[in-house]
Amino acid sequence: MHRSIATVSLSGTLRQKLEAIAAAGFDGIELFEADFINFKGTATELRGIVADLGLSIDLYQPFRDFEGMPEAQFLRSLERAERKFDLMEAMGAPMMLCCSNTSPLSIDDPARAAAQLHELAERAARRNLRVGFEALAWGRHTSLYGQAWNIVKQADHPHLGLILDSFHTLSLKDDPAGIADIPGEKIFFLQMADAPLLAMDVLQWARHHRSFPGQGDFDVVGFFEQVLRTGYTGPLSLEIFNDIFRETPNRRTAVDAMRSLLYLESEARQRLAAVQPQRVELFNPPPVAALSGLSFIEFAADEASALTLDTLVRQLGFRRIGRHRSKAVTLYRQGEINFIVNAQPDSFARGRFEAHGTSVCALGVRCADPLAAVGRATAMRSKRHDSPVGPNELRVPAVVAPGGNLIHFVPEALGANGLYEADFILEDEAPEANDAGLAQIDHVALGLAVDQLDTWVLFTRAVLGLEAGESLELADPFGLIRSRGVANAGRSVRLVLNVSLSQRTRTARTLSVTGGGAVHHIALRCDDIFEAAARLRANGTRFVPISDNYYDDLATRIDLAPELLARMRAAGVLFDRSPAGDYLHIYTESFEGGLFFEVAQRVGAYDAYGALNAPARMASQAQD
Ligand code: MG
Ligand code: MG
Repeated sequence: MHRSIATVSLSGTLRQKLEAIAAAGFDGIELFEADFINFKGTATELRGIVADLGLSIDLYQPFRDFEGMPEAQFLRSLERAERKFDLMEAMGAPMMLCCSNTSPLSIDDPARAAAQLHELAERAARRNLRVGFEALAWGRHTSLYGQAWNIVKQADHPHLGLILDSFHTLSLKDDPAGIADIPGEKIFFLQMADAPLLAMDVLQWARHHRSFPGQGDFDVVGFFEQVLRTGYTGPLSLEIFNDIFRETPNRRTAVDAMRSLLYLESEARQRLAAVQPQRVELFNPPPVAALSGLSFIEFAADEASALTLDTLVRQLGFRRIGRHRSKAVTLYRQGEINFIVNAQPDSFARGRFEAHGTSVCALGVRCADPLAAVGRATAMRSKRHDSPVGPNELRVPAVVAPGGNLIHFVPEALGANGLYEADFILEDEAPEANDAGLAQIDHVALGLAVDQLDTWVLFTRAVLGLEAGESLELADPFGLIRSRGVANAGRSVRLVLNVSLSQRTRTARTLSVTGGGAVHHIALRCDDIFEAAARLRANGTRFVPISDNYYDDLATRIDLAPELLARMRAAGVLFDRSPAGDYLHIYTESFEGGLFFEVAQRVGAYDAYGALNAPARMASQAQD
């Protein structure tokens, strides 16, 4: 497909936007009028810059408040249109977007609107330009694509067609199924946008909260599928108004934008494959790899913090398995959980995290075919990372996640532990001395900067094939946290994405020392939380104390056996219940003022993360 993006979707000056768009591999742009008005050159100069970058200007937009007007306003608007056509000719833009009228002067008369658009198209045709008519969700008399199509049909001019925008249709909960009945050649242009489901005024929603396909909650794939069923072969474009994208460095946004189109095409391709031969080539990446669990977590540490971490990790019931054959790297294990502490002075991790004490620098996920998984990731515009490998060591392919951490793909065939034993000189430490019964990594929670949440949702969907759960807002004593779980279908890989909406929360402070995208806590799963908590305490692990008031309140909310409530109160264990099952968990004190651990027990098919209890933990941490 010809891939395009509206300049309004990115931050920066027009030239910076164009450079970022070209660097991300787009074919063309929609020129947002304000970007041109504030540009210091002429239309002809812009044409040169765009051409030098290998781009085309596919659409000039928007032309407002045109159709259905009283005669005097209509004639003035035709003059206005002629001046825009002059510019379009000079810059080489073949099409103008005319969006449905919002003016109180406009008249609710589709025949008048059709006649006036016919005249506009006639003027455009004299210069071999085209006009696309788009229904805005807040248009005064035309808000649905069906209404806009009726007007375009009545106008019946070869230089007039329909522009579709997924936001306007999906935000009004209009049914996109009717699109498939429109002749593909009368759809002139397609704009795609996703958005989170929000209960707010549609204009505010549209102007501030749109996101790239795959970042929000709309069925954008279903919408795109309907458009492809018409035989449409025109541009696939993104038009995203988003407050955060206006601030985010535009190179990053442009990569997200391209990833979102590739994801959209590949998903639509799968749905359409069985239905019809494709008239356009849709992106066909390697399939998403089936992940089967979190295999290891790697910490970057300096020599001093590696020693402190050694004590902490042993208190958590891990035993030291071995030293790496060629690096200052130590392996710890409990159950199927592997922790790797990397104190290698020249490591990738240390290079990035030098000034920041201990942080997580890599995660390992198990899958059947790591090379296929890396192939998927690079097809979706993630960078591959190859670590230096010594003699007799296994190469574990990795990709760079947003923010810079690595995700390694560990071959399942090696078994839960096989990989490491090839690379490590094993120690003969007395086994099971401190074992606390922790069996698996339940989830890894990341603290993200506000502008990274959408990036991560799309990365985990498009690259790792994870599904996003609902977005929750949680109260920290110093601000709100937005939290969203993402997991694979088998629920063996779970990440929690946390964003602080305030600068003053602990989550935000964790970020400020790591620059964002940092692991915030690690949850380890056990079969018996009371047994695990008792053993961990005996090992010297310290837990965040929970207020008595919490348990008094819990008893009023949930019908619990008094003995269970008493045990939880005595052990400081938190509790959540869903219709599917229960979740019992406890948090350790944080390490070096940052990272901490959670110990969790899932009962039944409980599928969340005890988010309701996070405020109890955050309040307790704030009272340290
Ligand atoms: Mg639009
Ligand atoms: Mg958690």
